[in-house]
Amino acid sequence: MKTVCFLLINFLLVFRLFAQPLTTPLEKSNYQKVTSYDQLTSFVQQLAKKSELLKVETIGQSVQGRNLYVLKFSSSEFGKDKLKIRVLFFAQQHGNEQSGKEGALLLAQALCKPENRRLFDRIDFALVPQVNPDGSEANKRRNGHDADLNRNHLILTEPETMALHRFFDRYRFEVSMDVHEYSPYGEDWEKYGYRKNFHETLGTTTNPNIPEEIRTLSETEALPFFRKYLAERNFSSFEYSPGGPPEVDYIRHSTYDINDGRQSLGIQNTLSFIQEGMNGDDMFAENLENRAKGQMNGMLAILEFVYDHKNEINKLVKTEREKLISGKATPQVSIQCDHFSNGQKLALPLVSYHTKADTEVVVNDYRPVVKSICDVPKPAGYLIPRRQTELVGWVNRQSLTVGDFGKLKNPKIEQYTISRIDSIDFERDIIVNPAVEKKEFTGRIDAADYIYVPTAQLKGNLVVIALEPKSMLGLVTYKQYEHLLKVGEVFPVLRVEKE
Ligand SMILES: [Zn+2]
Repeated sequence: MKTVCFLLINFLLVFRLFAQPLTTPLEKSNYQKVTSYDQLTSFVQQLAKKSELLKVETIGQSVQGRNLYVLKFSSSEFGKDKLKIRVLFFAQQHGNEQSGKEGALLLAQALCKPENRRLFDRIDFALVPQVNPDGSEANKRRNGHDADLNRNHLILTEPETMALHRFFDRYRFEVSMDVHEYSPYGEDWEKYGYRKNFHETLGTTTNPNIPEEIRTLSETEALPFFRKYLAERNFSSFEYSPGGPPEVDYIRHSTYDINDGRQSLGIQNTLSFIQEGMNGDDMFAENLENRAKGQMNGMLAILEFVYDHKNEINKLVKTEREKLISGKATPQVSIQCDHFSNGQKLALPLVSYHTKADTEVVVNDYRPVVKSICDVPKPAGYLIPRRQTELVGWVNRQSLTVGDFGKLKNPKIEQYTISRIDSIDFERDIIVNPAVEKKEFTGRIDAADYIYVPTAQLKGNLVVIALEPKSMLGLVTYKQYEHLLKVGEVFPVLRVEKE
């Protein structure tokens, strides 16, 4: 009898140990030390051993050869069940924004608990907890090539962003979120006497080429859901609102550039977000525990939102993507935009540097609306000369669909001449703004000398924005491609007009 009892107790102990969730390295350190790359590696592998929902894969390597892990959660074969919705979250593109990674690891742990299992009845979820391990180990923003990964999603020159997009392209996720920290500090704000103080912010897509229905769903449904979910758990939140201080510079929502994590996926008609938790470097800052938990709860909020709205999101994304792929999306593409007021004033919650009390400031110069200031008609496609090897490399890195130019009947081809190069303000940066003349191209085209990139593809709007010489978000605004613009000369990329 004694032996039986002893065995039973032993069995129960072992069972309890197994059923107990693994603690993340941050929890183990009592929230005192950020998780190292080695600790992360061993944690995600142990977690995968404990949960039959989770598989860990490597999507690529960083500049210094560290693995980029993805955690794939699915109750069936990942990506196979078309009735489910595919969701991708990725954190820590900026290595010194540690709470994103810590929140992602807490999330991974939470998702292995029985009470969250129902999420995977509807969702196949992929989580990249650390896009920039090299930056993380050195606690610096940039990657091992000293590149800012979150400005690299259009040109895709870095191994980390290339790996992330290859993975995205494989599953064409319907929903995505890029997790960061925001830094509320700065001389301007100190002089102003107040600064932002919310635990979490959520930003949506703002590029006007992204269908209004997708932008509206994010803004009017996902954002309020996110804020309520966090408030119920004692985390403050706000809409992602860069710019300011009030009366010094305008406040807007997000950028419309497509070179960051959120908009580069948004331009493929993905329901795409950015989440930013407050960075922890000054006297008001929350401790690492609260910051990591804030990030985790924000991510859970969006997962719950997607769970509740699965059918609506799936239908909307599918419809809008089909328009892109069939070439039936809007006939005009915006290549220059700006932020505008809609008459509304923003009530912005801030904290006083002097009294440490919370207050609310009314922002007069508030520009929440992005409007196009220059459109081009969307062509059938572009012809890229094969001798422009940087451009050919870009087509390959973006995995663009390439068409057969020889199959077009009587294609009408146009070419730009650069007549002048002016400049234009782009979110307080001064960038090139060429004056161009468009003429019919009458020379002979040898199809062997060109790559034909049709615009009827998922990345069709991205292609137009990237390749138009006058695009303020285009390749010509990057150093690697600035040689394509020469005053008095023709632009080497040709437009093939729609019949
Ligand atoms: Zn960041």
